[in-house]
Amino acid sequence: MEATPARVIGVVGAGTMGGGIAQLAAQAVGADTLLFDPAPGAADAALGRIGAALERGVGRGRWSAEEAGAARGRLRIASALDDLAACDLVIEAAPERLEVKHELFARLAEVTPAVLASNTSSIPITAIAAGCPAPERVVGMHFFNPAPAMRLVEVVPGLRSSPGAIALARATGEAMGKRVIDATDTPGFVVNRCNRPFGGEALRIATERLAEPHLIDRIVRAAGYRMGPFELMDLVGVDVNLAVAESFARLSYGEPRWRPSPLAAQMVAAGLLGRKTGEGWYRYDGPEHRPSDPPAPAVHRDEGRGVIQIAGDTMLAHELRGLADAVGWHVVDPGEDAGAAPSLAIDAGLGLDEDEPLQGGHRVLLCAGAPLHALDPAGGAAGFHALAPLRPGGLVELTRSGTTSEPTARAAEAFFATLGLHTAWVGDAPGLVLGRIVAQLVNEAAFALGEGVATADDIDDGMILGLNHPSGPLAWGDLIGLDHVLVLLDGLHDHYREDRYRAAPRLRALVDEGRIGTIVGAGFFEHEG
Ligand code: NAD
Repeated sequence: MEATPARVIGVVGAGTMGGGIAQLAAQAVGADTLLFDPAPGAADAALGRIGAALERGVGRGRWSAEEAGAARGRLRIASALDDLAACDLVIEAAPERLEVKHELFARLAEVTPAVLASNTSSIPITAIAAGCPAPERVVGMHFFNPAPAMRLVEVVPGLRSSPGAIALARATGEAMGKRVIDATDTPGFVVNRCNRPFGGEALRIATERLAEPHLIDRIVRAAGYRMGPFELMDLVGVDVNLAVAESFARLSYGEPRWRPSPLAAQMVAAGLLGRKTGEGWYRYDGPEHRPSDPPAPAVHRDEGRGVIQIAGDTMLAHELRGLADAVGWHVVDPGEDAGAAPSLAIDAGLGLDEDEPLQGGHRVLLCAGAPLHALDPAGGAAGFHALAPLRPGGLVELTRSGTTSEPTARAAEAFFATLGLHTAWVGDAPGLVLGRIVAQLVNEAAFALGEGVATADDIDDGMILGLNHPSGPLAWGDLIGLDHVLVLLDGLHDHYREDRYRAAPRLRALVDEGRIGTIVGAGFFEHEG
């Protein structure tokens, strides 16, 4: 039987999240909505914010004044928890402390027969339900900030949640106009878990001084993210981010992928918490915290560019050949006689096969399976890394070893500029910056998939709709090539000899089966054509 959404909804806690959830309940679900907050004036203030948001929507033509008025008319303040007796769903958005939630859920179970949902982002639902005399009625409904705008809700059953409670939460989430994804009650559920490497790996790269935080952000933005990991940390709060990392470490008994960063802890100790304190990874005392990103280098076709050799069977190598050919380079494969020696030889392969050696010219090597210094024992070469798809105005990272020749470094920069791509110099390690962050994002998603945390569609939709990622990690892995992702991870694992970089069994199995992604029509997903 299809579950129907709740008709009378209580929202407990009228802060950032509770206000937005109450707006959704009254406006999208059309439910009678009761808002409770023990702090004097908090529920009134939330009603004021909701009223203003409804007005703004009328002004922008998103709904009519009548609809806004009707939604406002369905919202009431509850002066005590007892007023929630007639609810069929209560959504809790109180402070993120287990003892607060225990007290609330124990009391709520007494005053109402409703399904009791928590909007917690980091406390296990099963642990919250353990403090409630009716654990079968407790379920997670995890919204994203700002709740009215973000199109995702994670529904999280605890170990003892009843099917009826889960169905009501799902139906109500859908009536709110959200994409509802099903998660398991494991650290960070789906989205916050799969996003751990975004900040975590960036912090690790900064700790190793491979690139400064501002440069890491720039590199990540050039790949299509609206914000880099450090800007995002400043927005959310460096302290909030650290507290989430600490909860992951605690709940997982020390999973090395989720270890909190001492660098972040130092920022918190210094009170550099981000926007809310005026300074974090950036200073917020001017109109902008950073300059705008520069436009893409101009591209033009020039038949006189000369011969370039591009080796490798990666998606990246295919893209580089196409782009170079389009701007007038005479592109040859290794071993192919072009009549003239190549001025530049780029190896964009993964080093898995016995490839023909690169011939002459300046050598530029893909740093995927190893750092440049290990890939180039003879010396002289420059290193690079980028991920497919190469976006117009995108960025290629370059690296150098102690032996990289200056003319080779300049030739590498000049070549990528002819393709309309920016370059940035970073320290030498497998995958450089973006490759490493994205490989760990794909890996985390592959662990989550293998552990049954969510389906592949739910993981990818969750990351796009919940966090504005430009692409789902699994679909992106397919596009990059899962063999490329695995080589990056194995390269990092060999280089650091740390379990943090062990590849997910599901990822390795797909590569073993030849399902390496879009290029062969199958990876995490099946691909047409
Ligand atoms: P907030 O601090 O903005 O609001 C919390 C509200 O709860 C305050 O108005 C406070 O007065 C009220 N409150 C305090 N004690 C209470 C009690 N005993 N009973 C009822 N209300 C009480 O916090 P928030 O950011 O809205 O977060 C609320 C919950 O939502 C937390 O569990 C948090 O982890 C989760 N969450 C937050 C975000 C986010 O981005 N802010 C996103 C998803 C989930």
